[in-house]
Amino acid sequence: MHCNLINGEWRGGQPAIVNRNPSDLDDVVGEYASASADDMREAVAAARAAFPAWSRTTPQQRADILDTAGNEILARKQELGTLLAREEGKTLPEAIGEVTRAGHIFKFFAGEALRAHGEMVDSVRPGVEVLISREPVGVVGLITPWNFPIAIPAWKAAPALAFGNCVVMKPAELVPGSAWALADILQRAGLPAGVFNLVMGSGRVLGPALLDAGINALSFTGSQATGERLAADCAVRGIKVQLEMGGKNPLLIADDARLEQAVECAINGAFYSTGQRCTASSRLIVCSGIHDAFVARLAERTAALRVGNALAAETQIGPVASEAQLAGNLAYVEQGLAAGASLLCGGERLQLASRGYYQSPALFAGCTPEMAISREEIFGPVAAVLRADDYEHALQLANDTPFGLASGICTQSLALATHFRRHSEAGMVMVNLPTAGVDYHVPFGGRKGSSHGPREQGRYAAEFYTTVKTAYLGL
Ligand code: NAD
Repeated sequence: MHCNLINGEWRGGQPAIVNRNPSDLDDVVGEYASASADDMREAVAAARAAFPAWSRTTPQQRADILDTAGNEILARKQELGTLLAREEGKTLPEAIGEVTRAGHIFKFFAGEALRAHGEMVDSVRPGVEVLISREPVGVVGLITPWNFPIAIPAWKAAPALAFGNCVVMKPAELVPGSAWALADILQRAGLPAGVFNLVMGSGRVLGPALLDAGINALSFTGSQATGERLAADCAVRGIKVQLEMGGKNPLLIADDARLEQAVECAINGAFYSTGQRCTASSRLIVCSGIHDAFVARLAERTAALRVGNALAAETQIGPVASEAQLAGNLAYVEQGLAAGASLLCGGERLQLASRGYYQSPALFAGCTPEMAISREEIFGPVAAVLRADDYEHALQLANDTPFGLASGICTQSLALATHFRRHSEAGMVMVNLPTAGVDYHVPFGGRKGSSHGPREQGRYAAEFYTTVKTAYLGL
């Protein structure tokens, strides 16, 4: 059994989480120890005890450890990618890409640890100098979702450690394997006991224990419902909080879009990674001049997508991650049909050679903005096409959502691309690219109901993982 990492020791726990492969339910990826609320309290106490020494390490010591971890992740990307594909269900190339990203993130933040932070300012008073410096926030809780089992733990843990914080990480129950592998790599890279703790198990049990144990900051990625509850709980406890939540991301297809490029962006954004990306293009907003040609070509391409075992070379779309997620997707397909949208293809559970959670990608046309399939995050391979009269109408539809994570436009016009970039109410805007697929060295995050608090990733991560101190020096 794979144990929790608390105060530098691997500790068991009961009952075990049985990690099953969604491509093949007969394949058990591994058994992982389920922690108790007491384990969580011990992990936070260990992190608290480790903080004074860790926060005073030199940037070089922290950089060396992060760089070592990044190198090992990159060296083992095939093996870790296979583990990730087995536990989460994205295809092997996608999984290896995610592992590679995690490795690069650690190496990037190894560099960030060394970057000088702070500034010196002349005071408005004579004989006084002002120094502004950044310090770690303390003990940071990290709660992560199942859809990026190593990249999201990496993009939270790497900056937290780089800036001198101690970490207690609670990964999603569905995918403990990649988080466990990451903890093992960090431990062997030379982190002192208690600096990084891994506590696996139920969010409902471990989440409240984490908050009550006295952490200084919480970075959460997951659903909006869980995030909003956690934000309220953090507010009353004075815990700094950062939330990355859902999306219902629009991809706008302007009349002048290149047809094949636009279809490719839609296929990739809506269906790759089985539609299980917070940045997925789940709303395709198509201007009337190109609508019929676009929808016909997209339906043809969608119907031809090869759904299968995540590890098979020919697979383009892996399984849905869980039975509950699959049931939810199929319920949305039913809702779409009942609301009067036209199902052009897919939307069925598939029985393949191995017993898994397979679903054919579903493409709906004739969707209206008020339909649930146009408004709510489905988080599966289900896309809704909305027809727009013209660009202005399409922009209005694109912004008509409680979410604001990513958005995209396909157009050949610099004027439209620029207008959309300025007026889209999203944190990330793509031009002639899928809404999903981002760089690791620049800020990631959204607006409205998608995000709360400072951005993640790139040098902007310092906003969350450090606190500013202003010092006045009398000369
Ligand atoms: P979820 O909210 O169910 O779970 C996320 C994490 O929170 C898990 O580790 C879970 O155990 C934990 N959790 C659950 N209840 C808790 C509680 N009461 N207290 C503390 N922790 C608790 O989300 P999920 O189903 O794992 O992930 C899918 C969601 O994540 C989607 O909505 C997706 O859009 C979102 N997501 C967002 C981003 C982003 O960066 N914006 C990235 C990936 C996924």
